[in-house]
Amino acid sequence: MRTPIIAGNWKLFKTIAEAGAMVNALKPLVAGTSGVEIVVAPVFTALRPVADALAGSNVRLAAQDCYWEEEGAFTGEVAPRQLKDAGCSHVIIGHSERRQFFGETDETVNKKVKAALAAGLIAIVCVGETLTDREDDATFTIIEKQISGAFAGLSTDSLAGIVIAYEPVWAIGTGKTATDQQAQEVHVFIRKLVGKIFGQPAANAMRILYGGSVKPDNVKGLMAQPDIDGALVGGASLKADSFAAIVNFAC
Ligand code: PEP
Repeated sequence: MRTPIIAGNWKLFKTIAEAGAMVNALKPLVAGTSGVEIVVAPVFTALRPVADALAGSNVRLAAQDCYWEEEGAFTGEVAPRQLKDAGCSHVIIGHSERRQFFGETDETVNKKVKAALAAGLIAIVCVGETLTDREDDATFTIIEKQISGAFAGLSTDSLAGIVIAYEPVWAIGTGKTATDQQAQEVHVFIRKLVGKIFGQPAANAMRILYGGSVKPDNVKGLMAQPDIDGALVGGASLKADSFAAIVNFAC
């Protein structure tokens, strides 16, 4: 059995005060939820205050990115061990917005994944095709390239620290969700691919999240798919009631 994960990516939203208010509103709404790993990913500046606000709760903390070096002359970067120090248990790596706007490549994703794992963080590794890729029938080729690049040189054991988020770029922030079947089809492909590289037991244990306009009204259908093990949620994670409704999809 794979424990589902519902993770909220707050992107470049919320001050420290707003982030604190959000988690204080969220905590009672999910306090009784069991069998789901709940994660929120605020901006870097809000990590420590949110970690303090979450202490003793069932909500865990992620950063939205990290660098691959432990320390050094790398102005503006944050190392995985510093994220741990700030209270993070997870880090999102390779989000399509990082790939699109900040020059993230499969190679930098790979370095970041290795560094995150070395620091003891769970890496939520994002992959996904653009609309053009899908229209060109290149979805599986792109996903294969992203997965084999992200996981190059990793051992089977290290997969225990990795969660994959399949996020079709055309569905992120657009209100267009992949159909349950479209998402399931790609999740099956990813699981088979991971199985080919690392062996079927590791692939069967791997959590694969779907991301792309997940909302309270479409989460149930997605989560009913056998290979969808949770969601990475952007817009609908910004408000406590909508995020809690997604977290509590099984109720
Ligand atoms: C995301 O940012 O990872 C995401 C899926 O955003 P949204 O839910 O807003 O589409």
